[in-house]
Amino acid sequence: MSVDTVKHPDPTPTATPELIRLENVTKRFGGHTVLDGLDFSVAAGKHVTLIGPSGSGKTTILRLLMTLTKPDEGIITVDGDQLFPAPEKKVREIRKKIGMVFQHFNLFPNMTVLRNITEAPVTVLGLSKDEAEARARELLDLVGLADKAGARPSQLSGGQQQRVAIARALAMRPQVLLLDEVTSALDPELVAGVLDVLRDIARSTDITMLCVTHEMGFARDISDQVLMFDAGRVVESGPPEKIFGEPEQERTRQFLSAVL
Ligand code: ADP
Repeated sequence: MSVDTVKHPDPTPTATPELIRLENVTKRFGGHTVLDGLDFSVAAGKHVTLIGPSGSGKTTILRLLMTLTKPDEGIITVDGDQLFPAPEKKVREIRKKIGMVFQHFNLFPNMTVLRNITEAPVTVLGLSKDEAEARARELLDLVGLADKAGARPSQLSGGQQQRVAIARALAMRPQVLLLDEVTSALDPELVAGVLDVLRDIARSTDITMLCVTHEMGFARDISDQVLMFDAGRVVESGPPEKIFGEPEQERTRQFLSAVL
């Protein structure tokens, strides 16, 4: 057996099944505390939904995980690796494990749908054009747009563009998919198609999902755990049956009665 093929023991035998962990995370903008000593974790393969009023800090959590902003205090780990501080190379490695879909789909307007999906796998992961295209076509099939590979984003509806953005995120084979109010910018009649695709992905893949949404029916359907936020803190968490069926906190009841 050559040295290269010797099986080394797992270098991280103490790694927990938690894919994401936030410990005592605080984030301030100016004098305003947006996240206030937040602790929570997401186990691999689980679907966790963040609900709560606007401005309660939900999107900031996703942006921290994408390293788009930094915490003022606390520790964030992804798959056992700490972000902030981390060497640039490590940050890039961690970022490859995370895909994000935004409220505004941000597709490259001058590229075809297919090229939107193959671009990063080719340039970042080093896939061949053929491999990337085969993967992209499978994903277009998954999001119900197999016939749109050659279209430009401007030729698609908002819902279709968002489904392309979902395929584009999945093309990087991330371990975690972050979804930030992905249907909020859509016309109401286009929302269901996007949510159906996400339900399908939640059911048929083992991807971990962390999802900020105002779609309570969707949250109830796909979540293993729901976290109710208010003013940068988790006021209540639990399985969807508990949060939507028998919430314990008055703040949760108020919020749900306003949005349901
Ligand atoms: P949510 O997703 O729950 O609506 P956010 O995480 O977007 O909440 O925002 C939480 C708070 O942080 C809000 O009061 C928002 O105005 C503020 N905030 C978010 N990003 C910035 C920023 N880049 N600069 C200043 N304030 C910000």
